[in-house]
Amino acid sequence: MGFCINCGQQHQDGIRFCRFCGNQQPGEQLLARLRSEAEQIHYQRLAASQNQKQNQNQNQNQNQNQQYRQPRW
Ligand SMILES: [Zn+2]
Repeated sequence: MGFCINCGQQHQDGIRFCRFCGNQQPGEQLLARLRSEAEQIHYQRLAASQNQKQNQNQNQNQNQNQQYRQPRW
């Protein structure tokens, strides 16, 4: 069983058009492509958040170095 992407009515798998609203339903290939795109976006966000964390750590290290040098003056 699947759900219409337009009206949300439940219908059988494999149909091409919703029998309630007539909206075309995504086929297996389209669903697979959407899933792979969603995974790519997920991994891109993961990589972006990891890069941000690395940048934050680098900034913290620089601040610590500056604070460490200042008392020697
Ligand atoms: Zn529908």
